[in-house]
Amino acid sequence: MPSLNPTHDPARRSWVASANHSEADFPIQNLPFGRFRRRDGEVRTGVAIGDRIVDLAAALAAGLLDGAARAPAEAAVGDLRGLLELGNAGASALRARLSALLLAGGPDQAAAGAAADRILVAQAEVEMILPTTVRQFSDMCVSTFHIGRLSGNDDRGQPICPPVFRTLPVGYDGRATSVVVSGTPVRRPNGLWTEQVGGTGDPRFGPEPRQDYELEMGAWLGGPDNPLGEPTRIAAAADRLFGLCLLNDWSARGIQFWENMLGPFLGKSLATTVSPWIVTMEALAPFRAAAFQRPAGDPPVPAHLLSDADQRDGGLDIALEARLRPHGAAGKQDAVICRTNFRHMYWTFAQMVTHHSSNGCSLGPGDLIGSGTCSGPALAEAACLLEANVEGPLSLPNGDTRLWLADGDTVILRGRASRDGYVPIGFGEATGRLMPAPDPAA
Ligand code: MN
Repeated sequence: MPSLNPTHDPARRSWVASANHSEADFPIQNLPFGRFRRRDGEVRTGVAIGDRIVDLAAALAAGLLDGAARAPAEAAVGDLRGLLELGNAGASALRARLSALLLAGGPDQAAAGAAADRILVAQAEVEMILPTTVRQFSDMCVSTFHIGRLSGNDDRGQPICPPVFRTLPVGYDGRATSVVVSGTPVRRPNGLWTEQVGGTGDPRFGPEPRQDYELEMGAWLGGPDNPLGEPTRIAAAADRLFGLCLLNDWSARGIQFWENMLGPFLGKSLATTVSPWIVTMEALAPFRAAAFQRPAGDPPVPAHLLSDADQRDGGLDIALEARLRPHGAAGKQDAVICRTNFRHMYWTFAQMVTHHSSNGCSLGPGDLIGSGTCSGPALAEAACLLEANVEGPLSLPNGDTRLWLADGDTVILRGRASRDGYVPIGFGEATGRLMPAPDPAA
């Protein structure tokens, strides 16, 4: 678990003025890593600060990333995979140096400020791309509130879930090839589905009628692989988490419920949208929270998924929001369709890593693990339409209603961590616009 250090100091301000706005996602306390394409077509890696990016190759060339920061900066140039492979210690050394460079009134301000034209790029002038090639993508399902929304509560007032959900973090292996960065259009899939929700009746092939989104967080793994056959114990799992992003697990409910014999397949692999910035676990250290408190009557945490440290602060207090921008909406008529928090998750990311490798499955840098839909107990915290529409269609500010997504609709995910005594940090956006399905007969 990363500990608090001077990079988290709320008194720190940056000489990059846009980083100091109270609403900024990327203050000097955040410093997330990302990859972008410049106007000249060149691919670079960098660190977000306010509305700018520190171009790591340019900062290296300017001689500003020496000492312990040099090796991780060199590893990060071109593709972040090299930095992910180095793991959290390398990223921490680079973060410490960048924090010093960007610090207003610090001893490095003069040197860094003199090179600002060379090392800073405006985010508005670049195209963000995936931070690294996704090696493998797995998606978990660890909110009991998500599972229980349609099945109701038991006599304890707790969501009714199949027993497995409280004994392990349920998941499936998804597709790395369909993970796309925020801003990439998403095409409604064709597939086999039935008129009845739930997958009963006679199926036919055509455009998915019940296209949905799922608000999730994704964890990028770092450090060395666990070799095949060698599980990652719970005590070591937290250090395998490099950082987090927002993740939209686009879900085709008609296809999903008809095909669901061996688990999710084509209902999920149409596309997965991630936010471009990896917010490091070190940046998130001030926002750690206790793991989910199991209600009386739940089974105990299995011993192999139990550690005092993980129970104490393996959770995360991150406010999450989904907005829907309806197609053709005049001006900016976004509807907030979900407000929730990551602390509603029944299992921690460390438990997901340990469970995922508990059979010896190898995980490593470039692996992406989705948390599952981050629903909380209230209906306003329902983090997909399948749950949010249980009492009927959603009413949008422009007068439209939605049971499911319409062609041309845009889903925008945002996340923000805040705690008294610390500077809040954000995740940017995971945005995607739903495009019409291809001709199913073509
Ligand atoms: Mn999901």
